[in-house]
Amino acid sequence: MSEANEHPLLRATDQARLLKTCGAIGATGLATVVLAAVLLNRGLPIIAIGLFVAGAIAILGGPFVALRQIACPRCKMPWLQHALGEKDIGGWLHWLLGFTRCPGCGLSSEIRLENKNKM
Ligand SMILES: [Zn+2]
Repeated sequence: MSEANEHPLLRATDQARLLKTCGAIGATGLATVVLAAVLLNRGLPIIAIGLFVAGAIAILGGPFVALRQIACPRCKMPWLQHALGEKDIGGWLHWLLGFTRCPGCGLSSEIRLENKNKM
């Protein structure tokens, strides 16, 4: 009945931004590690090691925060972990960005919007 009114739940709960931020942090970390390798080749080991450590923290930290924080506000089901575990390798991000109902408790964006002021 109300499918047209249901919005992707990740965006409705304001977690799409968090996913993008964590992805950007991870990607920046990856670029930093690549830069560190280049600097190491050019004979700048101290700067390279510093960048490598910072990059490694970003690579691990971005996805770690996303895995922990992207979750259902009602049943606390970790949506990102669910997507990675249940969906195939090409489909998890598509599912995560588009799903409208929590697989754990059935929370939808409509219910979510009604309760928004309670938080
Ligand atoms: Zn839920």
